[in-house]
Parts: sequence; C-alpha cells; structure tokens
Amino acid sequence: MSAGSSSLVRGRLAPSPTGFLHLGNAWAFLLAWWAARSAGGQVVLRLEDIDPQRSRPEYAAAILEDLRWLGLDWDEGPLPETGGEGAQFAERGPCGPYVQSRCTAFYTEALRRLEALGCLYPCFCTRKELRALAGAPHIDDAGAPYPGTCRRLTPAERAARQRAGHRACLRVHGPDGVMAFDDQLRGPQRLRLEDCGGDFAVQRSDGVVAYQLAVAVDDGRMGINQVVRGRDILPSTPRQIALLRLLGYTIPTYAHVPLLCDADGERLAKRHASLALRSLRAEGVAPERIVGLLAWLAGVNPSRRPLRPVEALRHFHLDALPGDDIRLDAAMLDSLRRAAPNP
Ligand code: GLU
Repeated sequence: MSAGSSSLVRGRLAPSPTGFLHLGNAWAFLLAWWAARSAGGQVVLRLEDIDPQRSRPEYAAAILEDLRWLGLDWDEGPLPETGGEGAQFAERGPCGPYVQSRCTAFYTEALRRLEALGCLYPCFCTRKELRALAGAPHIDDAGAPYPGTCRRLTPAERAARQRAGHRACLRVHGPDGVMAFDDQLRGPQRLRLEDCGGDFAVQRSDGVVAYQLAVAVDDGRMGINQVVRGRDILPSTPRQIALLRLLGYTIPTYAHVPLLCDADGERLAKRHASLALRSLRAEGVAPERIVGLLAWLAGVNPSRRPLRPVEALRHFHLDALPGDDIRLDAAMLDSLRRAAPNP
C-alpha cells in the first residue's frame, strides 16, 4: 500500500507485548480507536515486539484478548483467535507482517536506503563514554544531544575499531533544521533533532532494530496517516518524521494525548498491577464501566454511564480532551469496582 494514497483515515494501535495492558494503555488505545473510527477510518493493529529481551508471546496474546474484551476491533493485523501456545498469529490485511519481529526484511531495506543517502554511521561509544561526553547522568530525550563523536571518525579509524572487535550501533545524522508538525491537541511543534537527543540510533549494537526505525518504517509502509498516542512519545516524533522524510513516506497527523496517572501523579505503568485490565476483569469489573469512565475523562460521556466504545463514537472529538495529565483518584476507581459483583 502506498502511504497517503487516499483520504481515508488509517489509524493504528501499536502495543508492545512487554506486560499486561493497564488502564493507561486502555485510555490511549481507546482514544486512538475513537479518533480513527469517528472519522470513518480504518484501524490497524501492529504488535511492536521488536525488542526480544522485553517482549513475550504470552503478553501479545493477552493484549489482543484484552483489547477485544474492551470492545475494540481492527481491520488489519493479527487475528487474536489464531495465536497462543507459541503459535504465530494469522493476519488479515495487505500490509503484513503486522508483527514487528517478522518485519526484519523491511527494516534491513530501510537501513540500506539510509546508508545510500549517506546519513548512517556506526557509533562505537559505550554508555559510559556517552555519560562522560554529555557531562550528564545519561543521554536521553531531555539530556544533552549526542555530540556526533563517531560521525567524525575517518574510514581508517572506523576500520580499526571494527578490527579491534568494538561493537557499533548505527546512528542517523538527520536533516538540520526544525521538524515542524501540528499536534492536533498541542498545537504547532517546532523541535529540532538536536532538541531530542541529536543523531539517534536506528540499530542497537546487538543488531536489534531501534524503536524509531521500526515505527517509522511501519507507519510509512502501512499507509498510516493518523497517529494518536501518549504525550510521553512526543520527543520521538521529530525523529520519526525525519526518518519518514528520508525514506520518502508521507507524514501522518499526530495527536499526543495526556497520560493517565495514579493519585500521586505517577504515570500508570506495569507496576500498577491492580489496574491491569486482567486484574479488573478478574474482580468482575465490566468492560463497559471502564470505557464509560474513560469516555467521561475524555469529555464525551457527561453522565458517566457504562458504555461500549462504539456508543461514544458520535460524540467523540479530540478537542474535548483535557490538556493536562489526569490523576485517577480513589473515587474514580471505586466507581469502577462498586458495581462489580463480589468475586
Ligand atoms: N509500542 C509503543 C508503546 O507501546 C507505542 C509506539 C507508538 O505509538 O508509536 O509504547
């Protein structure tokens, strides 16, 4: 499929199978689903299991089951009923594979194209060296940008390091200048790659493809033109836009939604095990109650009544979302559980 070939909205749900889905994931996926479906668009499900150390097939099967339980569907992607017990999922749709661990050929081809464009280079810096170079505890989105040390190595220096057995990651030296985009919630964004860590890795030194490359290649080749995801991922967006541009793909629209946090303002994560959809389900909480609460938080369910995702479609609008992160207080969680039958 060629990106941007029609005006049909194509959104995506892109879970990483590194744990069970919790309320925060459900919130982000519901918003992405509502945004695509309320525009009459299609939904693509993509399993982002690119990191072999963190991904587990049993989480993948559980995530697909939990999304279905919540009431979400997708037009393309893995078919939940076909996987499990180590079996690979069968898939539906013309842009497969929809499971990143099976997409290596696409990523290798993208690396080859980046190499041909002259913007790829091996980086031999160790974590320790990076820390020292940056003069900061670590290089990350908010820290000092990578200073480009290995970009300036001569071919002879590179060859010497390779001969000495130093392992390299591959970094991209992206275009200079601002990667401007209009966030549909946050307005115009004007970030430079330097503001987001500078030259970034597209392949780790152990050969595993980096998240930025996998997402950009898959959004591009799957013709995704609407991305709705948590605001924590916003610093990745300029890097993904840079890659999409270099690889010749159309840039999707982006909306970075507020995060769900616990009562202390901590972003929901795996350690909030009691807020995993599985745990709530085991307590007898109905999916309609979860969706009703999340739709209320999204500003589209004033009465807070339980509902199926499809019932909120008519009212859904990104503009109704709050701008700030949301704290889930005890009363909100009680409202989920109050109506649950005693286990
Ligand atoms: N797979 C990523 C995650 O679960 C989301 C990536 C994206 O939406 O671009 O955090």
